[in-house]
Amino acid sequence: MAITGAPELLIVMGASATQDQVDEVVARLDEAGCSALVTPGREATVIGAIGERELLATLPLEGFAGVEQVLPILKPYKLVSRELSPDPTVIEVRGRRIGDGYFGFIAGPCTVETREQTLETARAVAAEGVTMLRGGAFKPRTSPYAFQGLGDEALEILKEAREETGLPLVTELMDPRHVEPVVEAADVIQIGARNMSNFSLLSEVGRAPKPVLLKRGLSSTVEDLLMAAEYIVKEGNSEVILCERGIKTFETATRFTLDIGAIPVLKQETHLPVIVDPSHPAGRRDLVLPLARAAVAAGADGIIVEVHPRPEEALCDAAQQIPTSEFGDFADEIRALASLMGRTIG
Ligand code: PEP
Ligand code: MN
Repeated sequence: MAITGAPELLIVMGASATQDQVDEVVARLDEAGCSALVTPGREATVIGAIGERELLATLPLEGFAGVEQVLPILKPYKLVSRELSPDPTVIEVRGRRIGDGYFGFIAGPCTVETREQTLETARAVAAEGVTMLRGGAFKPRTSPYAFQGLGDEALEILKEAREETGLPLVTELMDPRHVEPVVEAADVIQIGARNMSNFSLLSEVGRAPKPVLLKRGLSSTVEDLLMAAEYIVKEGNSEVILCERGIKTFETATRFTLDIGAIPVLKQETHLPVIVDPSHPAGRRDLVLPLARAAVAAGADGIIVEVHPRPEEALCDAAQQIPTSEFGDFADEIRALASLMGRTIG
């Protein structure tokens, strides 16, 4: 259900508060023309109070039975903030999980180029125990003359790969005119870095019945990313996976600068799972593993990595895709490190 306004206050119920006391707080907010967003937590129930700040200030919330504390939510992002939902969100897709200790291992080609290339990659990554298959059908290319993706034909190929391997599909939605086929085919809808600030597209996927993998914009701050996620969650879709994929800085030695610091910051600020794409910031395959290692060690809830059977022939991102022949060693390292970090491959 879409959320009508911003939760301005956090009403933290005591650990021993009863359901009747929670219901009573919700009823009193309703009576006053405000509304409530109830999040039952492991330790305590938290109620987000939605309404005009001035109106909320007139209510004797602290005096209601069972209420332990009333705090203003000062951050501009509310629904995605850890304050409102202290427990981490776990996103489950066809039995695979990401978040709260479950590590999402997503791999596959940058782009679906042919049926053979896609199936070959899907088989190779499935054999190494990844949890989801990635692959672009609609590609955001810097050059209008570059290969733009196979579109609907690619979606059919991806479905065949899912059928054969059982891996859930992650694929990008670029254009509101493609919502129907992409949402139908995808298990997780990817919003790419270049569309992170496409607010109408964000609202559109906020109304979609599938989880969203939201990539950080090339020149966006951590707060911008969280506000973009807020657009999606506000429309009623609370299943959002955030993805750090590198940002533009003055450094040119790598394709983008992977902002490792964003991982622990995001983990503190939000209850949503945070994953990392080490392929696009690397820009070349020898850097993908070290960046992936750093991401896992910094506490990421997963990675999304590009793999191709013959990267030298790839139509997009040839330099950074890991050959399927080397993916086994890559996956071994990631699994070992994830386990060291106390994560279970989801
Ligand atoms: C991709 O994942 O293929 C992609 C285009 O990524 P980004 O939007 O992060 O550039
Ligand atoms: Mn790519």
